[in-house]
Amino acid sequence: MARIDLVDLAHSYGGNGTDVESYALKPVTMTWRQGGAYALLGPSGCGKTTLLNLISGILTPSRGKILFDGQDITHLTTQKRNIAQVFQFPVIYDTMTVGQNLAFPLKNRGVPRSEIDKRVAEIARLLDLTQDLDRKATRLTADAKQKISLGRGLVRSDVAAVLFDEPLTVIDPELKWQLRSKLKALHRELDLTMIYVTHDQTEALTFADTVVVMHDGRVVQSGAPADLFEKPAHTFVGYFIGSPGMNIMAAEVRGREARIDGHTLSLSRSYDALPSGARIEIGVRPEFVDVAEPGPGLLAANVERIDDLGRIRFARVRVGDVKFAARVPAGFAPSGSSVGLKFDPSHVHVYADSHLVEGAA
Ligand code: ATP
Repeated sequence: MARIDLVDLAHSYGGNGTDVESYALKPVTMTWRQGGAYALLGPSGCGKTTLLNLISGILTPSRGKILFDGQDITHLTTQKRNIAQVFQFPVIYDTMTVGQNLAFPLKNRGVPRSEIDKRVAEIARLLDLTQDLDRKATRLTADAKQKISLGRGLVRSDVAAVLFDEPLTVIDPELKWQLRSKLKALHRELDLTMIYVTHDQTEALTFADTVVVMHDGRVVQSGAPADLFEKPAHTFVGYFIGSPGMNIMAAEVRGREARIDGHTLSLSRSYDALPSGARIEIGVRPEFVDVAEPGPGLLAANVERIDDLGRIRFARVRVGDVKFAARVPAGFAPSGSSVGLKFDPSHVHVYADSHLVEGAA
C-alpha cells in the first residue's frame, strides 16, 4: 500500500484552457496516509468520481501531479499503478466458481498457488464466503456477487490502494449495514489504503477514519468524523453532515457578540478582524440549541413542528424568515408556538464567505 500525494491536481473535461472555476475538479493539494480508511463524500456531480478516476489512472489530469510513495505516477496506466477497484455493479466471471473469482487477480499476477489459496481462504473467511467457494457465481444474487467483487478488490496485499466507487448501491439495506461494518473491520485486519466514494453520510462516517468532503469540484474539508460534526470548516459541511444539518444564519459579529434578528448572542471566542465586505454568518448545530419558554436573553422563534426521532426531539422553528432546528429538552412541551432559543456559546461558529473563522481566545 502507498501514501498518495495530490499536488495542485485539477481536471477539466473541456480542456485546460478554460477558466479554473469551471473545472470539474478545482486545484487540490493533499496527502492520503498509507493504510488510511478514507471516504470521499459529497452530493451528485461534486467531482468524486473525477478525483477517483484521476487517482486510478482512468483519467489524466489537466494539471498537477499524483505521487505514490513520493514517485510521480501521473502518466502511468491504471495497471502500472497497482490499484484495486470495486465499482457500483459486480464485476465477476459467471462461469467461474466463487473461489476462482477471488483467486483471479492473484493468478493474473503469477502469485504462487500456495499463496493464492491462503489469501483466498482469508478473504472468504472475512466476507463469510467460505461455504460458497465451490459454487458457480452465476447462480448467486446481485448482493452475493457484489460481495465477491469486494473480495476481488481486497484479495491482493501488494496494492497501492483499494478504490471503492459507491460499492453498496446494489446491496439490500440490511446487508448494506452489515457489509459497511465488515469493510471497516477488514480495513483494520488487512492494513490497506482504502478510498471509498459515496454520497451517503452514514456510509462515509461508519467506514472512514478520515472523511474528505467535496462540494462543487472542491475539497472543502478533510478530517475525522467528529471534526466534521463539531467544527465544520465550511458551511456546506455543516449543512451536508448531520441530520438535521447545521443551522446557518446571517449575523453581525463584533468581538464576542453576534447580532441576529435584533438579538445579541454571546460567543465563546472573539472576532475582531473579520474580512471587510465578507458575508458573515453564524453556524450552530441543532444539538447545541435548546427550545425553552420565551424569556429575556433568549432568541424569539416560532415552532412549526416537532420531529420525534425516538432518542431525541427536534423542533423546526422560524426566526423571522429563517428556518432553524433546535433540540427539545426531555420532558419539555412548549405551551404555545412562541418559544425562546438558548444557545451553547462554545458551539456557535462564525463563517466569513462560508469559511470558518477561528476567532481568538
Ligand atoms: P455522482 O455521484 O453523480 O457520480 P460525482 O460527485 O462523482 O457525481 P463527477 O462524476 O466527478 O461527480 O462529475 C463532476 C462534474 O463533471 C459534473 O458536473 C459532471 O457533469 C462532469 N463530468 C463528469 N464526467 C464527465 C465527462 N466524461 N465529460 C464531461 N463532463 C463530465
